[in-house]
Amino acid sequence: MKIYLPSNGKLKFNSVQMNAPSIGALRIIPNLSQIEHYAKNEFLRTLLEKPEQLEELTICDRDYLFLLAVGGINLNKISGSYNCKCGKKVSFDFNLDTAIATFLEKDDRLKIQKQINKNKYTFQTLLVKDETVATEYALEDEKNYEERFEFAKVILTLGQKLDDKGMEWLQKQDMSIYYAAKFFEQCMFHGIEPFQLTTCVHCQKQTLVHVPVVKTLLQVNISVIMSRFASLAKSVDFNSFCSLTIPELNTLMQNLTNQHK
Ligand SMILES: [Zn+2]
Repeated sequence: MKIYLPSNGKLKFNSVQMNAPSIGALRIIPNLSQIEHYAKNEFLRTLLEKPEQLEELTICDRDYLFLLAVGGINLNKISGSYNCKCGKKVSFDFNLDTAIATFLEKDDRLKIQKQINKNKYTFQTLLVKDETVATEYALEDEKNYEERFEFAKVILTLGQKLDDKGMEWLQKQDMSIYYAAKFFEQCMFHGIEPFQLTTCVHCQKQTLVHVPVVKTLLQVNISVIMSRFASLAKSVDFNSFCSLTIPELNTLMQNLTNQHK
């Protein structure tokens, strides 16, 4: 299916062709990277008609595609739960059919220059390939990975070269520059925000909760799905089984149950 990207024509291409996740594609799940955004990339590469486009997408575009792909496994619904302050566990469903995507506007620019305290700074929206560079840099010191990754992204957002000199440069800057880079990233958000305002059924308190998109994918039990093949082997061959999507599989299983009734 053709999917329009929320970067909305700011890149070399404004849409991608992506396949709905089939059972065959889900078989990669147990082997996905421990690093969340690498896991997203690895999964999306199996779905994109042109996997080489992935690195050229903005990080927001990538997260948008990933959300759609995971939604495609679960009938556009992603379920989660959280502990409310009243002490009760609350379940919620995030419905992609009613979620609103933010697309960049005509006047938005992925790269801008700004004068702050008499100095000129560049601010740019990061692409997946920039995130990969930041990850590799951060992994050079695994113990401090989280902190290095955050700093690396800021250095790249500010258009600096990512090396120890770039890190030194950032440390010499006023903290306001660091936050300006973070703020620029927030202002340029595009896609669907993976958050939901949820009301506790016990105390009515509202909480903004994170939608567990990656976790939903990782929790798919591929061995359970593969075991369904046994009951369908009479009606489909293995290759056709692997090309089914999860909703198609559910329909087939339902038909099978109905036949036996
Ligand atoms: Zn509550």
